[in-house]
Parts: sequence; C-alpha cells; structure tokens
Amino acid sequence: MKFGKTVIDPANPQPCSHMRNLVSSLSDGSAGGLSSWYTRLHVKGCPKCGAALEAYLAIRIELSTLDLSEKTHIEINLTPERRSNLELAMDRIEQERQGTLT
Ligand SMILES: [Zn+2]
Repeated sequence: MKFGKTVIDPANPQPCSHMRNLVSSLSDGSAGGLSSWYTRLHVKGCPKCGAALEAYLAIRIELSTLDLSEKTHIEINLTPERRSNLELAMDRIEQERQGTLT
C-alpha cells in the first residue's frame, strides 16, 4: 500500500484534516479523557500532527509570554505625555508606511 508523500511546511505545519480540532485542543489543554488519549496516540505516530502540535504549543507559549508582560508593562509605565508621544510616533510610522505603499 502506498501513501501520498508527506509534505510538512515548517513555517505552517498542518495536522491531518480530521485531527485539526483535536490537536488544537491538546495544545491548549482543553482536550480531556478519551480525545486527549487518542490525540496523543495519533500525534506520536504522525509526523504531520506532531509538527503541528509543536507549532501550536510554541505559538501558545509565545502568546502567553508576549501578551501580558509587554502590554501591562506599557500600561503601567507610560505617563500621559509619553503615551501621546508614542501614539504620535506610531501614527507617523503608519502614515509613512502607507505613503510608501501608494
Ligand atoms: Zn495526523
């Protein structure tokens, strides 16, 4: 029996189509009981789902560290003057970016 060639894009690994929700649930810890067991079993033997699970976990870790620490840091430490300076600078960057695009 011949299987199709397994192509994994390291920048955007995709799990098997029927495993997408299960792999996602496993990565955020919402999978429980039988579905968790089944997904772990499948991921062990499936390079596509293994790569996808790794990528999902990496993204979740990155989000959880970025999100809170950086946002809270800015909210707490910016005085109103610094905040408006920052907003002006971001507007200017945005305008320049649009200027170069059009
Ligand atoms: Zn799979």
